[in-house]
Amino acid sequence: MDISENIALIEKMIRDLGAKEIKPYMMDWDENQIFPVPLFRKLGEHGLMGVLVPHEYGGSGMSYREYVTVISEISKIDGSIGLSVAAHNSLCTNHILQFANEEQKSKWLPKLASGEWIGAWALTEPNTGSDAGNIKTVAKKEGEYYILNGTKNFITHGKSGDIAVVIVKTGESGDSRGTTAFGIEKGTPGFSSGRKENKLGMRASETTELIFEDCKVHESNCIGEVGDGFVQSLKILDGGRISIAALALGIAQGALDESIKYSKERHQFGKPIAQFQGISFKLADMATKIEAARLLILRAAELKDHGKPCTKESAMAKYFASEVAVEASTEAVQIFGGYGYTKEYPVEKYYRDSKLCTIGEGTSEIQKLVIGRSILK
Ligand SMILES: Cc1cc2nc3c(=O)[nH]c(=O)nc-3n(C[C@H](O)[C@H](O)[C@H](O)COP(=O)(O)OP(=O)(O)OC[C@H]3O[C@@H](n4cnc5c(N)ncnc54)[C@H](O)[C@@H]3O)c2cc1C
Repeated sequence: MDISENIALIEKMIRDLGAKEIKPYMMDWDENQIFPVPLFRKLGEHGLMGVLVPHEYGGSGMSYREYVTVISEISKIDGSIGLSVAAHNSLCTNHILQFANEEQKSKWLPKLASGEWIGAWALTEPNTGSDAGNIKTVAKKEGEYYILNGTKNFITHGKSGDIAVVIVKTGESGDSRGTTAFGIEKGTPGFSSGRKENKLGMRASETTELIFEDCKVHESNCIGEVGDGFVQSLKILDGGRISIAALALGIAQGALDESIKYSKERHQFGKPIAQFQGISFKLADMATKIEAARLLILRAAELKDHGKPCTKESAMAKYFASEVAVEASTEAVQIFGGYGYTKEYPVEKYYRDSKLCTIGEGTSEIQKLVIGRSILK
């Protein structure tokens, strides 16, 4: 099948699934910070939990271009679910797919791709976010085992995740060869989740601490070579940024679609507010910036699909699309006026959810550092 036909099918499948399984419940999940585990099993049945995983491991074997559609279509409905699907697919599952050995892939990927398991990926620590090379969670070798101690925070699916890919220090601080990735299954003694964050937005996506207290992990859980953790993480984040850019695109498009509809329906001074140039100019700006974001994302996804370097392009896509999501959702609240400030209408949620996009997987400032380094070298 031609890729554009497949993309149209994905869009329809997610619209139908979202109308039945997400829309009726999402404000309750949001209000009460419920992470809806059963939904992720259903998404798994529809092939959305192993989007990039080849068929041989039970995945959907899709391209990055198709993956962008999956994330943006889900996020158009609910950014929280988009964020969780993105973290599961492009961080945890993709790390295993790209760097694990055959035995680890056969053991873990089919469960992740089917949605039987939910995946987490843990790099950030309480004192180390942007400065990821400076992590403190440590793994000390004792015979065939590693003993892990430390705390990770802001980890998506830190409590409900069945497996976490965890990046820890195995060498000297600041040494780019001083960290290693481990796959650690839920229930491993010494491995637990801590505080759950009470967040501004993305409230149905679970965010918690991960705690390691003399957590004993066999060396066979090491993903790739000892010392490769930092380099692996940078490669994973190249793809992850396309994911967050797609998340931002979905939120921005959702905010625009709702704004167009509302501005045709809402009358003031005897006519629809869409007929005021002040409103139509806002819609025109939103639509133009969203289209530019889409093109940057598709460019990065295409490079990724062809196995070409895309660090600069994915950072540009993430930076631009995230800022557009914040801008578009802010304008959407403005277009809805007082009603936009209430939970009766969907735009206040886009507004709250959008802000995560400029922070997660590298803040906008860090994206600008990456782009700057890339164009100045
Ligand atoms: C909802 C949510 C989900 C998340 N999920 C995960 C996850 O699953 N796994 C995971 O590992 N992490 C996750 N994170 C963590 C996220 O990636 C970090 O929050 C992010 O990288 C920023 O790190 P920080 O919060 O420590 O901010 P800091 O690094 O402390 O940054 C604070 C401010 O300083 C700025 N800054 C820092 N360094 C520089 C510099 N050199 N130049 C200019 N400005 C700078 C930043 O841009 C920011 O504005 C999640 C975060 C959230 C909020």
